[in-house]
Amino acid sequence: MRINVLGVGFDNLTKSEAVDRGMELLRSPGTHYVVTPNPEIVEICRENLAARQAVNAADLVLPDGVGVVKGARMLGTPLKEKVPGIEFASGLMERMAAEGLSLYLLGAKPGVAETAGERLAEKYPGLKIAGTHDGYFKEDGPVVEAIRRSGADCVFVSLGAPKQELWISRHGGATGAHLLCGLGGSLNVFAGVVKRAPKFWSDHGLEWFYRLCSDPRRAKRMIKLPLFLVHVQREKRRK
Ligand code: UDP
Repeated sequence: MRINVLGVGFDNLTKSEAVDRGMELLRSPGTHYVVTPNPEIVEICRENLAARQAVNAADLVLPDGVGVVKGARMLGTPLKEKVPGIEFASGLMERMAAEGLSLYLLGAKPGVAETAGERLAEKYPGLKIAGTHDGYFKEDGPVVEAIRRSGADCVFVSLGAPKQELWISRHGGATGAHLLCGLGGSLNVFAGVVKRAPKFWSDHGLEWFYRLCSDPRRAKRMIKLPLFLVHVQREKRRK
């Protein structure tokens, strides 16, 4: 049973339950995928049917950030907690390392995925980095083929939204990986190119504000945040 927030169905799991579920998917036959929508992505999904379908067809839909959790509470259908994509990914890598599983990193500017791979291999001994590729490719075929040949168990896809969700739903199966995760800017953080908000900020629901201050170019995108709350209010009145 998913919790509907403006047309996107979220799985109601704690972070550790989400990682358990991710590991189950990773061990199951076939290809599965995880998406981590924030309010901005929910707003994109309201306007873009293909994006909404790709997001809702995921095997795991996790609330990335406090906005979605607030929205769900306002609608009278609370979610257990926020599960930021980057924290889900870290939990997953810890478990993958213990089992010697392999990870492919796809996305971000040239060089970023390689650096992230080196740092992650150091941080999670046992984790195998199957390969890396930047996110600015013209043809999908060679990238899909490179992932398939790498034999990766899992792929982190950081192409921004909704590109990454659409890419995963279209090409995920052909990669042969068991699990693909749409993770936005996480590769930049893993590579040390971008810093995550200090704990105080995220504990107080202000991670978005920290990101805005460190990169004011995000302001235009962040207009979607208040818009999301307006739409939640409207939906609440309709209920
Ligand atoms: N990106 C990419 N290919 C593209 C467009 C974007 O690899 O065609 C990358 C971009 O370099 C960045 C990531 O996708 O590393 C998106 O990061 P953003 O901070 O926008 O994601 P968020 O975490 O806010 O969803």
